[in-house]
Amino acid sequence: MFNLRGIVGLIAVFALVFCLNPLAAQELNTNFAHSLGVGSSASSYEHRIDLPENWAAEGKFFIGRSLSLDGKLVIEREELTKTYYYVKVRLPKATLWFAKGTIDITLKAGAAQASIPVLDAPVNLKVAGESYPSFGWSGNGAYSAISLLDRNSGSTLWERVILNDQNCVMDEGSVKVGGKYTWAVKQTDETGRYSSETQAQFRVGTKQERCRHCFGNGYITCKSCNGSGHIVSNGPNNTPVYKVCYTCNGTGRERCQFCNGQGHVTVPAIIPE
Ligand SMILES: [Zn+2]
Ligand SMILES: [Zn+2]
Repeated sequence: MFNLRGIVGLIAVFALVFCLNPLAAQELNTNFAHSLGVGSSASSYEHRIDLPENWAAEGKFFIGRSLSLDGKLVIEREELTKTYYYVKVRLPKATLWFAKGTIDITLKAGAAQASIPVLDAPVNLKVAGESYPSFGWSGNGAYSAISLLDRNSGSTLWERVILNDQNCVMDEGSVKVGGKYTWAVKQTDETGRYSSETQAQFRVGTKQERCRHCFGNGYITCKSCNGSGHIVSNGPNNTPVYKVCYTCNGTGRERCQFCNGQGHVTVPAIIPE
C-alpha cells in the first residue's frame, strides 16, 4: 500500500540526491553564430566562457565539454581548464556567397577529479597531396587538434580542431615547393583534455605529371582546320579551294600551350620524411 508520508519521504530523498547535492554535475549550453558578407576576407573569432561564480562557490569545476558545428565555421584552437573554456573559430573568405556558421558548446561542471584520464596519442600519421596536403591519422578521440608548422619560418601556418573524423585537407593557405614542414596531431574525448602530440615531417618537392590538357601528347588538334591540315573556301563557280592551314602548316596539330609541347608538367609533391 502506498502511503503519503512514504512518498513524500522518497521525494525528499530524491531531491537530496539529485537536486540538492552541491557536487552533482551541471551543464551550461552556449552557442555563437557568425557571418561574413560577400567579398569579405576570412576572419577569426575568440570566445571565452568562465566558470559561473555560484558553481565555483559550490566547489565545482569544468570537467568536460562537447561541441557541434554547422555551416562554414571551423575551429582553430580550443582549451578547457578547470575555470574557463576558450575557443577560436574561423569563417573562410566569402567569395561568391556569404559565409556563416554556428558553434554550439556544452560545458559540464562537477566535483574536481583528482586525475583526468587522457587518451593515447594518435598513431599512423599519413600525409599526401600537392599544394594542399591531406592529412590522416588513427585514434579513438572524437576531437583531434592538428597543427602545421613551417620549419623555415618557425611559424604555425594552419591549425584546426576536427570533429568526428580522422582525416582532413588543408582548407586555407598552401604549402610551397622547397618548404619544410612539421605537423602534429593530438586527440581527446568529451573530457576536453588532450593526449600528447604525435609529430611527423614532410617537405615539398616536385614531380612530373602527364599534361591533362593534351593527355600527354604534347599537341592538340589544330582549332583553325579542325585537324585536317587545310582550309576550304569557295572559289569560282562554287568550286572548293583547298589551302594549307597557316596555323599548323598542314600538320593538323598545335603545340600544347599548357605543357609547352612536353606532354608533362612539373607539379608540387609532398614527400614525407
Ligand atoms: Zn599538354
Ligand atoms: Zn591547322
